Amino acid sequence: MRHIKAPVKDRQAIRGDLYGVRDQVARIIEEVAQEGDQAVLRGSRRYDLSQGDTLKVPEDVLEESFYALEEDLKTAINTARDHIARFAELQMGCIAELEETPICPGVLLGHRVVPVDSCGCYIPGGSYPLISTVLMLAVPAKVAGVKRICACTPVKRGDRLPDRSVLGALWGAGVTEVYAAGGAHAVAAMAIGTQTIRPVDLIVGPGNKYVTEAKRQCFGRVGIDFVAGPSEVLVIAERGMGNEEFIAWDLLAQAEHDLDARSVLVTTDEELADRVTSRVERILQDLPTRDVASRSWEDNGEVLLAESMEEAVEMANRMAPEHLELLAKDPDLWIPKLRNYGSLFIGDHSAEVFGDYASGTNHTLPTAGAARYTGGLWVGNFLKVLTNQRITPMGAERLSQAAATLAEAEGLWAHRGAALARVPQGGRS
Ligand code: NAD
Repeated sequence: MRHIKAPVKDRQAIRGDLYGVRDQVARIIEEVAQEGDQAVLRGSRRYDLSQGDTLKVPEDVLEESFYALEEDLKTAINTARDHIARFAELQMGCIAELEETPICPGVLLGHRVVPVDSCGCYIPGGSYPLISTVLMLAVPAKVAGVKRICACTPVKRGDRLPDRSVLGALWGAGVTEVYAAGGAHAVAAMAIGTQTIRPVDLIVGPGNKYVTEAKRQCFGRVGIDFVAGPSEVLVIAERGMGNEEFIAWDLLAQAEHDLDARSVLVTTDEELADRVTSRVERILQDLPTRDVASRSWEDNGEVLLAESMEEAVEMANRMAPEHLELLAKDPDLWIPKLRNYGSLFIGDHSAEVFGDYASGTNHTLPTAGAARYTGGLWVGNFLKVLTNQRITPMGAERLSQAAATLAEAEGLWAHRGAALARVPQGGRS
């Protein structure tokens, strides 16, 4: 595999930079633990130039923001919400309860599926008002049956409140407990609790490196979905497939997210690689977001020429990208070989942007290699599978010897006693 366009910035340096915020984030979490609201408000003033002095966004402001949304935006929100809900309901239908079932005579096992009591949704807002993220987090939480759903989103730069369209979308999605708080401060507040914000059981949602690192550090005290940091796309295009116009737009749609975003094309077609590279440069000339997109493309963008589709697929498995686009003559030949990705987009018309906004799959996806061990956010993240057992006297008799022998081997004598006590004469031996 060889580079047609190599990234300027070294990936290790970017990873190092992500880890570089570790100490700063630990300090922020400690400040929030010690000072609560005051630390969160100070963070908003410092990083978002907030003019506000309260965290809770009043419900009437949420409602007004919803009614102030442009009609076409409201329609788009409704379309996206319906698709996300429909897909979440279908997935919910795949998660069955297991009725108590005999594993052996007298030993009945089962499981229940129970939603978490509360969850906190982090809606990014540093660079763009991510209205779509509101739907991606709140809708599956609702479908899962989570009772308390709250949200944190940063104050709009220099304002008293977060972006009104995000607030309106939150109201539209049925989220009425909303806080004007961003970054690691918001994550810490939802994990630990402050005077105003009650702690939650689970924090979900994407964010920049401060948000991502804070979720990582708070995990254990609170549940998290996974690491969903700066965005990535990998496009695999087989020779004779792929349209340079489509690919160029998709690479830039990723690059415009932020300076750490990563867009990669791997192809077996050198001519396509050249056409895409020049198309990207041309689109960049007039792109309103070119300041970010061109730097991110320059620093992190890659175009690679693979010897074969096998090599391209192996590269994808190693990278474990958040988004993977597959442009191949026979995609079904390659799909079973692709093991690590957040979400897969098959064919020319399955643009990543549709998944970002409206097709119905979730756009909160694992980044930085986390797709090696997890898929994206889904209704299952809000649910717990709780096992139970019902053992009859006959079942206890069947299990007691194995349990007592293992307990004895481990030197756990009360365990042995508890097993033998269940069988006639057992506890007294
Ligand atoms: P954000 O809300 O994540 O971050 C803004 C907050 O960062 C601010 O409120 C502030 O508290 C904090 N902050 C900023 N500078 C700081 C500093 N120097 N020190 C400490 N804290 C600081 O918004 P954003 O910055 O626009 O980032 C959104 C991110 O979400 C992007 O990286 C995007 O790629 C990513 N994203 C990922 C997915 C996914 O599924 N993986 C989906 C959507 C977006």
